Amino acid sequence: MRKLLLSFFLFVFLFTSCEKKPYVENEILLSTICTITTYDKKAHEASLEAFGLISHYEKIFSRYDEQGELYKVNREAFLHPVKVSDELFEILEQARMYTVATSGAFNYAIGPLVSLWGIGTEAARFPQQEEILEVLGLLDWNAVVLDEEEKTVSFLVEGMEIDLGGIAKGWISRRVADFLSSKGVKKAIINLGGNVYVIGKKSRGEDWTIGLQDPSFERGGYFTTVHVSDAAVVTSGAYERFIEDEDGKKYSHILSSETGYPVETDIASVSIISEDAAKADAYATACFALGLEKAVELCVAEDLEAVILTDDGRCIRLP
Ligand code: ADP
Ligand code: MG
Repeated sequence: MRKLLLSFFLFVFLFTSCEKKPYVENEILLSTICTITTYDKKAHEASLEAFGLISHYEKIFSRYDEQGELYKVNREAFLHPVKVSDELFEILEQARMYTVATSGAFNYAIGPLVSLWGIGTEAARFPQQEEILEVLGLLDWNAVVLDEEEKTVSFLVEGMEIDLGGIAKGWISRRVADFLSSKGVKKAIINLGGNVYVIGKKSRGEDWTIGLQDPSFERGGYFTTVHVSDAAVVTSGAYERFIEDEDGKKYSHILSSETGYPVETDIASVSIISEDAAKADAYATACFALGLEKAVELCVAEDLEAVILTDDGRCIRLP
């Protein structure tokens, strides 16, 4: 099994002045640092339980866990329809919806291409053109059949694989928020490797202030802030998961199912702010892939709140 490399960066800064000393808990899950910040003892206890929930979902949605559900789907769905849990079916339906809505800029059937490049893993490499051409035939999202009645998944093409890396952290962050709320937590910040979800407001009833990291700074500095409560702030960017060629040119871990190559984008980072964290995650990935002009069109069409930093340093806020 391939081991994922960890990227220790968080994309965000939290401004918590005026708050009493928080409880901050970290765990490495979902191949990144997951942090839950809470402000009282009961909430802290609930946060410790929440990490169990994250690892439960990680197991279901991972492409690499041989005991996991998505692993089984990817191995067997061409052979026969595979029955899945309600949670996996739900995220698959959402992933399909965003795939269609973004015309595949976010493509949940991108698995074989992600595996071929291996960016962010120990197996990262530059594939041959023939290999890429071969894999391009395996990325057709219309060849994934989700049966709502039976809750099954089938692939119409042999060798297809679903990859939820661009949506799972967002989806899970919302589930964690719902879990904490159900435990009576009124105020908390969940950060799953740059997928932030904030519950409630600060003590004085103010929104939380989140600083968005400038990717050109070496893990320091933020270029702007956003103010949010009960919402997700999800960032995709050219931070640390990339592959470099001999000339030092960097290629991102977000790939194009049209060209088969890492996307060439004029966006340095894009953050989407939404109550729907899974949507924010999928659209952040899609916007990064689309580049500035089309990303702006998409956000306007979907009425999404977004902050885009271009590679020449311009900060664009929508709406
Ligand atoms: P991160 O995982 O770094 O937070 P993203 O949410 O943007 O960033 O997701 C990137 C991940 O999504 C990749 O590691 C890969 O698993 C998957 N992926 C890569 N390209 C695409 C794409 N075009 N559509 C959907 N998922 C993608
Ligand atoms: Mg994403």
